[in-house]
Amino acid sequence: MIQHAWENGYAIGAFSAHNAESIRAILTAAEEERAPIMIQVGQKVINTLGLYQMKDMIDTFMRDITVPVCIHLDHSRQFEQTMEATRAGFQSVMFDGSGFPFEENTKTTRAVADVAHALGIGCEGEIGKIGGTEDDITVDEADAMITTVEEAQEFVEKTGVDYLAISVGTAHGVYKSEPKLAFERIKEIKEQVKKPLVLHGGSGVPDEQVKKAVELGVAKVNVDTELRQAFTLGVQEVFANDPEEFHLAHSLGRGEEVMKQKVKEKIRVFGSNGKA
Ligand SMILES: [Zn+2]
Repeated sequence: MIQHAWENGYAIGAFSAHNAESIRAILTAAEEERAPIMIQVGQKVINTLGLYQMKDMIDTFMRDITVPVCIHLDHSRQFEQTMEATRAGFQSVMFDGSGFPFEENTKTTRAVADVAHALGIGCEGEIGKIGGTEDDITVDEADAMITTVEEAQEFVEKTGVDYLAISVGTAHGVYKSEPKLAFERIKEIKEQVKKPLVLHGGSGVPDEQVKKAVELGVAKVNVDTELRQAFTLGVQEVFANDPEEFHLAHSLGRGEEVMKQKVKEKIRVFGSNGKA
């Protein structure tokens, strides 16, 4: 899925799910846009609902879906958890060792990639630190977090990952000021490393910048924050109109609808609509 996107100049949206309604928002948006997508299970929802439970719930809602969907484990920091996900039937796993020293990140990612490949599933690794940014970040510090071509090259050679998360000026969460992506670096890494790149912290990055990053070699874009914001706004809208609306189907249903529109909007920005 990612390889095809990479070779044809579009990106796969990797959308994070947090409950039944958000799973359905993502899947129905993909279905309506005829887009191949990845649905991500992250650490927060694993801690609350559970890894197997999310996998089973996604499978349940897949019943009426006809577009290709890949279930992906996002930002795992434990080798054991990535193995658990492969047993649960995930089709793609990410080991995030970016918080560890280079050697340790490389070694564990290699182990995860070896198992993933033996099982025929995809593996994502991360090199360079993608910030949760601070208000008072200086230009120098921001620059220091940008992945270098050399480390990306060495990391891919030593780990064998299929797609690579790099730090090119995005951050997780809500931006305090408009992010500026390091386009030149994306281009250099693509030319040297020759692997599909993954953009994390895709929420709040202006559409034009995301489109340009996709043109330059990004083939998977993670979106979480903006989807949670959309869902929450939908729910808030219902309670603003009627604080005594106690039918969860109404409040959560509105959250689902607003989030679905946001997913559709992102799919079109990534150019994956009509690709299923
Ligand atoms: Zn991320």
